[in-house]
Amino acid sequence: MSWLTYIHAHHGQPLARHDVVATPVSTREVAAIMQLASRLGVPVTPVGGASGVQGAANATCGGILLDLGAMNKVRRLDRKSLTCVVEPGMNVKAFEAQLNAEGLSFTHYPASAEWASIGGCVGARGSGVLSTKYGTIQDHVLSAELVLPGGGVVQLPAVPRHGVGPELTQLFVGSEGTLGVITAVTVRLRHLPARREFAAFRFESLAQGIEAGRRIMTTGARPAVMRLYDRDAAVHSLDRAVQAGLDNVTMVLMLDGDHPALVEAEAGVCRDLCLEQGGRDIGAQVGQRWWDQRYVFYHPPHAPQLPQIWCTMDAVADFAHIEGLYDAVTKAMREAVDPVWGLTLKTHLSHWYDWGSMIYPRFGIPKGPDDLDQALELHDAIVRAATLAALEAGGVMNDHHGVGLRLAPYMEQQFGAEGLALLRSIKRAIDPGRILCPGKLGL
Ligand SMILES: Cc1cc2nc3c(=O)[nH]c(=O)nc-3n(C[C@H](O)[C@H](O)[C@H](O)COP(=O)(O)OP(=O)(O)OC[C@H]3O[C@@H](n4cnc5c(N)ncnc54)[C@H](O)[C@@H]3O)c2cc1C
Repeated sequence: MSWLTYIHAHHGQPLARHDVVATPVSTREVAAIMQLASRLGVPVTPVGGASGVQGAANATCGGILLDLGAMNKVRRLDRKSLTCVVEPGMNVKAFEAQLNAEGLSFTHYPASAEWASIGGCVGARGSGVLSTKYGTIQDHVLSAELVLPGGGVVQLPAVPRHGVGPELTQLFVGSEGTLGVITAVTVRLRHLPARREFAAFRFESLAQGIEAGRRIMTTGARPAVMRLYDRDAAVHSLDRAVQAGLDNVTMVLMLDGDHPALVEAEAGVCRDLCLEQGGRDIGAQVGQRWWDQRYVFYHPPHAPQLPQIWCTMDAVADFAHIEGLYDAVTKAMREAVDPVWGLTLKTHLSHWYDWGSMIYPRFGIPKGPDDLDQALELHDAIVRAATLAALEAGGVMNDHHGVGLRLAPYMEQQFGAEGLALLRSIKRAIDPGRILCPGKLGL
């Protein structure tokens, strides 16, 4: 679902060039396919829901598209440990519905839940709207079963906290199909929360909102949702869904939990800290409406379509750098484009950590050039400006959408020559024939 994929297909030059699609139903079948591909030196690209936005799931070098969609079973549900072994093709929304029926929750809700698969979330190292409290996918995954390029099957240790050497499961989280095929993961579950509290605050400046968010996170309160919209995002995006007449920086909060007293206490802490930073309480219903409407942003008329050019960049930094990151990236993106193209830019901060946060600058150009190369050039200029500005400002170039094709050219700037050489030697050791997703992740 990457713009890169759409625009290439639109011009009759698809990025997806697979020769065959294989649809395995078991780990044994995946292993047999990998053995064959390895013997023949044929590229293999795993795909889940194909909702990734960096173009990673396109088989750009041809070969086998390994569609994991039919491996979609829950293998084991452990109600005592609150863990579950699930196959990679399980759709995130279907998984959540299945768990909710049992009073449980995965608590990993990417905005793309209706398309995304568990394997894709792990492959792209994704994050969900509740990550501020429950963590990103790397915090949800306890263990994995993998098929290596030569067909070997590996079962990694049952839990990630141990003293038996490096934590190998995390090596494969975010590896974007370049190191192995995930055929099952053990994930953490939670009980469905008994209580949800909503809140929303208006700020005079983004800096005040960021400081309120920083204090909330460093005080130890853990809102499940804390989304801070800059003025453009609040007025031109959030308000279209919540219809609250928003006119400036807005923070939407949701707190949840099993015990109402704890939820209320955390809501009180968040409220106090927002008010202390000059926030004005604009009512719980704004937060509640965002929650009810949270998927409409990804469907017409809100979702962009060709001939527009669009992309949601995301970058992450610690609190010392986050405000500078926002300023540098948004300025660089605006300056990268001739005003005739009518760039729109809406930015929010939606995944918070106890050491920092991330920015989500979402750009759009109402109508790009008709020529494919010129359209790509315009798109790439904005992406380049944002990425280099993020790195220059002390950030990391991506929070949770992955690298894929779009950010592959910047891996050396991100990791340094020695860092990228280390990554490449890991790739060489695991996949000497370079059959898994060649060209992705800058490898
Ligand atoms: C409207 C919209 C909203 C989005 N919102 C979010 C969001 O809130 N949070 C977020 O994190 N992302 C979001 N995304 C991006 C995307 O949905 C996520 O990256 C998602 O996790 C991808 O899952 P998928 O199954 O579609 O993966 P795919 O696109 O199929 O694949 C993604 C990557 O994982 C690899 N992969 C897939 N399955 C396996 C496997 N079994 N083994 C090894 N590698 C594998 C692929 O090769 C590819 O590199 C959004 C996308 C859209 C279009």
